[in-house]
Amino acid sequence: MSIYVVVLIIFSYLVCVKCIYRRRRWSLVKSLQRLMNVSSDKEISGDDIRALIVTAHPDDECMFFAPTLVRLVELKATVHVLCLSEGNYYNQGALRKQELVNSCTVLGIPESRITIMDHKKLPDDPKAEWSISLVSSAIVKHIRAHSFNMVLTFDGRGVSGHANHTAIHKAVSHLASTGQVPDDCCLLSLVTVGLLRKYISFLDLPLSWLLPSSLCFIIGSQGYKQAKAAMLCHRTQLLWFRYLYITFSRYMLINTFRVIPQGPKNLKIY
Ligand SMILES: [Zn+2]
Repeated sequence: MSIYVVVLIIFSYLVCVKCIYRRRRWSLVKSLQRLMNVSSDKEISGDDIRALIVTAHPDDECMFFAPTLVRLVELKATVHVLCLSEGNYYNQGALRKQELVNSCTVLGIPESRITIMDHKKLPDDPKAEWSISLVSSAIVKHIRAHSFNMVLTFDGRGVSGHANHTAIHKAVSHLASTGQVPDDCCLLSLVTVGLLRKYISFLDLPLSWLLPSSLCFIIGSQGYKQAKAAMLCHRTQLLWFRYLYITFSRYMLINTFRVIPQGPKNLKIY
């Protein structure tokens, strides 16, 4: 292949990335209108969205969900974070709670909208099997207490495969299949991509854009600076490979979500 063809392919790819960046806000608004059943004639506003991000550990919010948080806050949506553990695996729970609060502040979420659970049956431990009924009841109580109309969490592969992440997906899927979620609340799972796509940063944009998803949050350089600053709040976690993650992970720039289908409402299980 001649050098000209290679240059042409790279140039076309970068033009494609640029076009996606330009259209990202329009596309996000259209997807949100569809999901929230807002008429396409009306511009969706922050008042229409009450979102809950459910995570397992302090640092999940910026490591995996930063583009979502940054974009929803930009749209002036009401955004809460429910973190189901203190991240006490190395007995640093108290410190990590404060790091989570600091990180959320950087991402635009006030402390009053953060809930951190500390339940002995929900330890930060990849070998621990979290009770699905305990997790699902904590989440559904939170949804009802704050009237959320959008819940975003991990998918069945949990991005990193951590058992605590996948337990949350199982719990939310359980709520969905048993019809326990309020009618106006949509459930979304963060798409886990393969190892190669995970670490090609913005070069994953065309694939994330073209492959089917229900919502796609993309942040630019300003949002990336916020996400990076939030990651740096988690001082206890800043080992050398975290810096590589910050530089190369597409989750620092792109989040794609799929809707978790919901079953009939108030299903009785005998
Ligand atoms: Zn985690």
